[in-house]
Amino acid sequence: MKQNWQAVIGLEIHVQLNTKSKLFCGCESNYEKNKPTNTTVCPVCTGQPGALPVLNEDAVKLSVKAALSLNCKINHQSVFARKNYFYPDLPKGYQITQHDKPLAEFGYVEILTDEGQKKKINITRAHMEEDAGKSMHKNEHSLIDYNRSSMPLLEIVSEPDINSSVEAYNYLTVLKEMLIWTGISNCDMEKGELRVDVNVSLKEPKAKELGVKVEIKNLNSFRAVKDALVHEIKRQSDLLDRGEKIFQETRLWEDETGNTHAMRGKEEAKDYRYFPEPDLKPLVLEEHYINDVKKTLPEFAHQKQARFEKQYKLSDYDAKLLTINSNTADYFEEVMKCKVQSKNAANWIGSDILGKVNEHKISILDIPINPKNLAELIKFVEGGTISIKQAREVFEKMWQSSKPAKDIIEKHGFSQLSDEGQLETWAKEAIKGNPKAVEDIKRGNQKAVGALVGYVMKQSKGKANPGVVNKVFAKLLSKE
Ligand code: ADP
Ligand code: ZN
Ligand code: MG
Repeated sequence: MKQNWQAVIGLEIHVQLNTKSKLFCGCESNYEKNKPTNTTVCPVCTGQPGALPVLNEDAVKLSVKAALSLNCKINHQSVFARKNYFYPDLPKGYQITQHDKPLAEFGYVEILTDEGQKKKINITRAHMEEDAGKSMHKNEHSLIDYNRSSMPLLEIVSEPDINSSVEAYNYLTVLKEMLIWTGISNCDMEKGELRVDVNVSLKEPKAKELGVKVEIKNLNSFRAVKDALVHEIKRQSDLLDRGEKIFQETRLWEDETGNTHAMRGKEEAKDYRYFPEPDLKPLVLEEHYINDVKKTLPEFAHQKQARFEKQYKLSDYDAKLLTINSNTADYFEEVMKCKVQSKNAANWIGSDILGKVNEHKISILDIPINPKNLAELIKFVEGGTISIKQAREVFEKMWQSSKPAKDIIEKHGFSQLSDEGQLETWAKEAIKGNPKAVEDIKRGNQKAVGALVGYVMKQSKGKANPGVVNKVFAKLLSKE
């Protein structure tokens, strides 16, 4: 690259909604489950004369749920439109979609940039539409399976806010996790449940106006999206460096060669002769309906993380670790119900529990230490009954036996010596036997106290409560 061009990328995504039936008829929707070709079809989804569409309420609900997850504004009224074009897999001669009045607009999702910085990607719109059938080409023959015809899709269009292949990849990952988490779609790209078209142009970094965009289709994995973008950005920058122009066109990605080739010049919207679908009324959604759907939304990982930081005063590192999945987050919240200090709970779960979970490759749901027992162990440390070092030993034994901390501490005689009288006796001996250390401390070398504490620890066989020992020395030495 001679000049440092900035990539500008916008994504158009189609997700197949997890409904039982198709978008405008009662046909079964799970066509991918090896249903023989052309068996889940009816007059509506094969475009027979006089057949009338009836909107699937579940598809509306899932679409609204998705749009709310994407922080979109739901339009109280949206309108279905006919997009007219001819293709053998489209027997009606038009696709029912939403055009100038989509279901939802003005959303955003938060992603990470190449440098790990948070960034908002705006969502232009999310609208409902029906899928087309599937063409298969064999030798001189073309075969069509209409099982997919009229399957419910949600199209999610982003603003051209994405500036690198990594950002595009991260955007897709966030979106996919969200759609799966909420049960909106399975998002299996191999089954075509998630399809991605990318639009990419280059401009000078400071330029306000966007360059001419190229659309890339036939992307079958997130990996392909990333590779195709790297390839296309290079192709365009080479052209621009040579002073050549970019043509607006659609190109197809070839996974095998890692190349793109031109498919067609871009058709204009007017070529589709969009007009409102006369067989469907505008879709009217009342505020209370939208609010009811809102109530069914789960708390997303990033929301949980933000809440943990605030509610439990955790660092973003800890909050992120604890919200790595919902089971870990739930475990943490169960421990917190027992009123332990959040930082202690975070440390134990973040390092000891997750360490074990990773080591044994099991789910936190299946570990031998339940949240209540971990909380009890933490409390024994917080209350000074055992030291943190002893607690790690108790923890090991809890892991092996599933027994509560209390039983193990009693059985193995783990406990800290906090009896000030006894500790003071040893402390006095330490002071007497280490005049040099006492001199050093008086001269301001606080570290010298370590030698004295060490003596008491040795006498107590490691059971002295360090907090109390320090307190005792502070008292005795101030009198010296
Ligand atoms: P079209 O009319 O060709 O469908 P749209 O304006 O509807 O184009 O945008 C389609 C997608 O292309 C959107 O995701 C949008 O963000 C993206 N896009 C629009 N203009 C550009 C551009 N100059 N460079 C890169 N992406 C763009
Ligand atoms: Zn049908
Ligand atoms: Mg468009």
